[in-house]
Amino acid sequence: MTSFRSTPTCTWRSYWQAGEGLVQAGEEVERVTRMSRSLLTGPVQYLKGVGPVRAERLAHMEVHTGRDLLYHLPHRYEDATTVDPISSLQPGDDATVIGRVVSKGVLHTRRRLRVFHVVIRDDTGMIECAWPGRPWLDRSIAKDDLLLVSGPVRFYHGRQLQPREHTVLARASDDAGPTAVTHDRGRVFSVYPATEGLTHRQVRAIVDLNLEPLLTEIAGREVLPERWRDDLDLPRLERALRALHRPSALSDVEPARRRLAFEELFFLQLLHARARARLRLETAGLAFEGEPILTRPFIESLPFTLTGAQERVWGEVEADMERKSPMNRLLQGDVGSGKTVVAAAAMLKAAEAGYQAALMAPTELLAEQHARTLETLLEPVNVKPVLLTGAVTGKAREYALQRLASGEARVVVGTHALIQDAVEFAALGLVVIDEQHRFGVEQRRRLRDAGMASDALVMSATPIPRSLALVLYGDLDVSVIDEMPPGRVPIVTGVRGPKKRDAAFDFLREQLEAGRQGYVVYPIIEESEILDVRAATAEHEELVERFDEFEVGLLHGRLSSAEKDGVMRRFVEGEIQLLVATTVIEVGIDVPNATVMLIEDAERFGLAQLHQLRGRVGRGAEQSYCVAFHSGKVPSERLQAFASTDDGFLLAEEDLRLRGQGDVFGREQHGVALLRFADLERDRKLLEEARRRARGLVERDPSLSHREHRFLARELAERYGGREALYQVG
Ligand code: ADP
Ligand code: MG
Repeated sequence: MTSFRSTPTCTWRSYWQAGEGLVQAGEEVERVTRMSRSLLTGPVQYLKGVGPVRAERLAHMEVHTGRDLLYHLPHRYEDATTVDPISSLQPGDDATVIGRVVSKGVLHTRRRLRVFHVVIRDDTGMIECAWPGRPWLDRSIAKDDLLLVSGPVRFYHGRQLQPREHTVLARASDDAGPTAVTHDRGRVFSVYPATEGLTHRQVRAIVDLNLEPLLTEIAGREVLPERWRDDLDLPRLERALRALHRPSALSDVEPARRRLAFEELFFLQLLHARARARLRLETAGLAFEGEPILTRPFIESLPFTLTGAQERVWGEVEADMERKSPMNRLLQGDVGSGKTVVAAAAMLKAAEAGYQAALMAPTELLAEQHARTLETLLEPVNVKPVLLTGAVTGKAREYALQRLASGEARVVVGTHALIQDAVEFAALGLVVIDEQHRFGVEQRRRLRDAGMASDALVMSATPIPRSLALVLYGDLDVSVIDEMPPGRVPIVTGVRGPKKRDAAFDFLREQLEAGRQGYVVYPIIEESEILDVRAATAEHEELVERFDEFEVGLLHGRLSSAEKDGVMRRFVEGEIQLLVATTVIEVGIDVPNATVMLIEDAERFGLAQLHQLRGRVGRGAEQSYCVAFHSGKVPSERLQAFASTDDGFLLAEEDLRLRGQGDVFGREQHGVALLRFADLERDRKLLEEARRRARGLVERDPSLSHREHRFLARELAERYGGREALYQVG
């Protein structure tokens, strides 16, 4: 059974309305004429069999125009091609039949059970169908209805079918007009998303009345070149839509879906490609040139050699920076894969070319950690990073600001405030953004608006499948560090139920006694930060007693940043051995001596978050452990997956599989929300093709003004119109 997401988050109407905004006033007359003639773009109300009342009901399903109706596709198909002739049914069979209701009624059995029953007839015979305990069906099934039923056949005063499922395929009272369905065996019945006051059969009848003219019109609007359709084996749009509405066999559906999937992926990629091209046009790029007087000695000074993945990614970044066009690159890699080293090299590259580089972190704590890391890393080449956060005040701040303005300071580390406040740089060339979480369109827009530096490198420690990266960040170039530095001791992960809690805490004690440190982490319950704090505080008190020979710290979101900083600092310095925390520690604090991570209520966390938390241990040479507590009898599939691998990319794929693409990304992730037909797992190849072709096209014809691309430009405007602004960001 094929199904589509039945409630698109974006409708063709909004595409269209947005598109309208693009029409110049001078074209108004032409537009009105065109619209009045167009079934596709005109209001659905004026289509056959609709009218004002039904139009309003259709509007509840976001069907406003003829085009919306054409894309209001069946969410289910009843395959009547394998229907059994009624005369052939034997007790013991499991059957699917189609027949007209010749009689019906509700029977009362002696045990006061009420049974709804009908007799249906096809060309070959009649059979009784009975629904014990469902008398209300009497109201929804009428005489002369065409029913599709399936279920077991048994013997009860003759043959009787007990339907597991039933569908009213057609109803005599439906004003389906001349195309009213008659019993035709050997066809697939389309079942449409329905709404109050409009049954799926009525929707179907409306489609029947208007399908041909709408298809004729859409045939003139084929947007994919024939060559592409041949290459990718995709049907024409008209054929695809026909097959989706009225398949002659179920096997027609998938190729048609692929066609629509490719189309939507392609237009999304076209949007990304245009945003990328526009950025390149609007940003005065910098070519970072200069002898490698800093980068080479830096890499030589490292106490290790770069991994193959680091080498490759550094090469990509270097080439990007040397090119005049602005770099807009996402640097993805699991926690501990060595992104910081690559980012440091990039910052030095900016410096040796005479520019400044800024690293932005999401919190002050992290900014400080980055500053410390960079200080050590860059020491051999005599570059001292300047720290600029809200915590740097007074004289120190003035001094830092002055050094940034004069250009003396080459490398600066700070929070997002760096670009929000009017900090003056002498020559900022590169911004490195450490985004521990997935970043949304909004954040990227801000970054882009800031427009201060030519080049941007965004570090993300949240591995996501490539397919998702292409959809969400298709306008960025993506570099992936998919290899861990050698000699890392893998973290041992366990999942434990309530009975094993004590044992886990005993183990924690052993580790603390051996001089290590540990974390106990609580999930954030978003609705109530106060409750979170309470839970963490209560547990903290308990653990203070239980581990009274150790120092137990508490860290939660209600603490001021100074307080957090204080606690964290004491943990980093080893004064605190056990840290009870809500997820604030998720964001990348490194304490090499911490070897145990206990995660309370682990089911509350997403896979990516769990993996992030686990990444807080295993930062040193000692064997580290992560234990996830679950409350139920058996751990969820998610927790099992978590324990089975520490490869973040594998887990990301698994997350996608378990939750589905709609849930992995929230509403704010426009890219995914717009996908109605594409399935990021199934359509990976199509996605790559869509991206390759979209980029190629935009390179040849950035404004899509060539004659043969006009259709594409129009379609893009209709689909995304005003939304394109959202995608200009980065
Ligand atoms: P990330 O920023 O991706 O989480 P880091 O850059 O902080 O990772 O690196 C994690 C640790 O691994 C650091 O201690 C770093 O010095 C070390 N490291 C980085 N690259 C290598 C390498 N190629 N070989 C050995 N150790 C490395
Ligand atoms: Mg790091």
